Amino acid sequence: MPTKSYVRTTRLLLVLIIFFFLSSFFPYFTFSQTSSNCIETSIGTIPKDASGGCSQQCDIQAPNDLQTIKTGLLADGIIITGDELDIPNATEVYNTWCLLKKSSKYLQLLGAKSDPIEVRFKHTYESQGSHAFPCAGFSSAVIKPRFIELYGAQGSACATYRLDFLIAHELGHQIRFKNPDIYNKWYSTAYNPSFPTWNCQKDYGPGPWPEECFPDMIAEYVFYKKWEMFTEPPQPFLEMKTTYLTMYTFTRDNIFGGTEY
Ligand SMILES: [Zn+2]
Repeated sequence: MPTKSYVRTTRLLLVLIIFFFLSSFFPYFTFSQTSSNCIETSIGTIPKDASGGCSQQCDIQAPNDLQTIKTGLLADGIIITGDELDIPNATEVYNTWCLLKKSSKYLQLLGAKSDPIEVRFKHTYESQGSHAFPCAGFSSAVIKPRFIELYGAQGSACATYRLDFLIAHELGHQIRFKNPDIYNKWYSTAYNPSFPTWNCQKDYGPGPWPEECFPDMIAEYVFYKKWEMFTEPPQPFLEMKTTYLTMYTFTRDNIFGGTEY
């Protein structure tokens, strides 16, 4: 009959063996998070948030080093450049990108890995002369090189929630350029011109502007819990899932393949 201390020692040994066995397989457990939709980037795994879901912020993991952020994004086909490229701006590309890339459908539609997209941070929008054009963007319809531009993103003119939205918006144009069939399907089945964001109704004079509404819808889909475009201070846009449910559902199913934020 084994003594009490013998049993205790054996138990402790067993626990230790199991612990070392599991820790040697830890990388595989990390990978398994990818399948439950918390992404793993070349920069690092995005941790689950307190409620057990995937982090909506992603900024916890952004390295405080421009070259590391650059290298990580480059691995996904996102090239960051420009005279306003600094750590804060690069961090917001990182944060937004790590939300977008939760969806493999989105990645497939954007196709950046095989057809890279340059994200240029520029102080000046050339056609506006030498003045900074604060917190605005542009998405090129030219096939090569593929790029988006962000103007005057440095400093207080462009709060992070605006910049994040802008990045998702400009990339949303690229989704359309690469997938005209999806845009046409949206226009004929899900477009609601009363969608209340700036670009749907007011941009460039009297709207509505469906070609701007489409990327706004994509950006709102990702950030609606945080911000309705141009509400100041930022307010959530919960009508996205009520009044504009058709737009929400279209985006979820056709752009993000079921991934929700
Ligand atoms: Zn636009």
